[in-house]
Amino acid sequence: MPPFNKILIANRGEIALRIHRACQEMGIRTVAVHSTADDTAMHVRLADESVCIGPPSARDSYLNAAAILSAATITGAEAIHPGYGFLSENARFAEMVEAHGMAFIGPTAEHIRIMGDKIAAKDAMRRLGVPLVPGSPGALASVDEAREIADEIKYPVLIKAAAGGGGRGMKVARNEDELEEAWRVARTEAKAAFGDDSVYMEKYLDRPRHIEMQIMADTHGNVVHFGERDCSLQRRHQKLVEEAGSPALTAAARDALGETVTNALKQLGYRGAGTLEFLYQDEQFAFIEMNTRLQVEHPVTEMVCGVDLVREQIRVAAGEPLGYEQRDVRFNGHAIECRITAEDPVTFAPSPGRVNAYHAPGGLGVRIDSALYAGYAVPPHYDSLVAKLIVHGATRAEAIARCRRALTEMVVDGIRTTIPLHQLIMEDPEFASGDYTIHWLERFVAQHT
Ligand code: ADP
Repeated sequence: MPPFNKILIANRGEIALRIHRACQEMGIRTVAVHSTADDTAMHVRLADESVCIGPPSARDSYLNAAAILSAATITGAEAIHPGYGFLSENARFAEMVEAHGMAFIGPTAEHIRIMGDKIAAKDAMRRLGVPLVPGSPGALASVDEAREIADEIKYPVLIKAAAGGGGRGMKVARNEDELEEAWRVARTEAKAAFGDDSVYMEKYLDRPRHIEMQIMADTHGNVVHFGERDCSLQRRHQKLVEEAGSPALTAAARDALGETVTNALKQLGYRGAGTLEFLYQDEQFAFIEMNTRLQVEHPVTEMVCGVDLVREQIRVAAGEPLGYEQRDVRFNGHAIECRITAEDPVTFAPSPGRVNAYHAPGGLGVRIDSALYAGYAVPPHYDSLVAKLIVHGATRAEAIARCRRALTEMVVDGIRTTIPLHQLIMEDPEFASGDYTIHWLERFVAQHT
């Protein structure tokens, strides 16, 4: 018997397909929701049923909780999977889903709320024994307080939005002269993007890697981790290429971090999938934030662990126990993901429009998560991610060679994409050496454009 008979997928694009695929394999019927701009989208075509929930603007469709709940009610869905983005980290939405007698495929509203406020999240993690980036103990009340703390932790410092996400509301101050401006700009950006101008301060690390841990928890007190992902290749604090495992981490370091993280989440009583993000420098981990949802880069973990994370999310949301322990989780080979967006590979200007021809690469160890098809028009209203190329190899070198090969096979004709940039990265000897930090890609892009 499947854990649910029918699930509504409250998302679009590649992630809606990803969730549909897991449901289908589990014998669960799916309901797609879509805006009027997505009438002909692949997630709508594949789902068993679909409901139009509003006009193109995300605010009126994919963020329209009332319309989504109505769609779930009239179709008789038993659970809602929010994917990533949109309503996935909206605690109020999770509460509304449960109040309507449906399961929310994610953690409790309480945990979404805590982790959605980065100050509260750091406070919770500190108490659970997780190491943090040094910084202000809470929200900064004034620029004078910011100055005092900066003097203590020493410049450079970073002012960050408590409600932050997508790299917005984040400003570096390299010295005291830059502090007032950084404070002002971060608050203005935070207010505009999140409607909340609370900011806090962190020491700005000069050469860290971004390393995150994937965890899964059931409602019976079992928590396992599926190892780390290295997401250091970023542009404007946004990830572009991700790897599992990290070229910088030994198995012993992974085990130690995994133990800290799983212990913390056991104490918290967490449920579902989650990711703890860390900066890693001088062999020290420092927590920056937790994401209480499936992440864009989850496939690299699936490839090395041989696990279907969406299936696990659905099972634990239905109250099933994990049924395995940490020692059952094995890591096999290396995986790399390229995020392919509908953007100019040099200027990064958005490039929506019609895809005339589409050819997906294939062969051993190649996976494409994408909602593209020939004739599809990429709408201008949403995130520019159009495909994820994920490759797996026995070693990192094999994965890179495979990625290079797959990128040359891939054709997305009619719109501009970041495929040429990924090709340059995969051909670069420094990338191949594995020796890079979060600043590497910005410099690489500047040199090649
Ligand atoms: P968001 O939620 O907006 O993505 P994060 O806190 O996850 O913000 O940080 C995004 C990225 O910004 C990190 O992956 C890292 O590259 C950079 N960053 C964040 N905090 C620091 C810091 N204290 N020092 C240096 N870089 C940082």
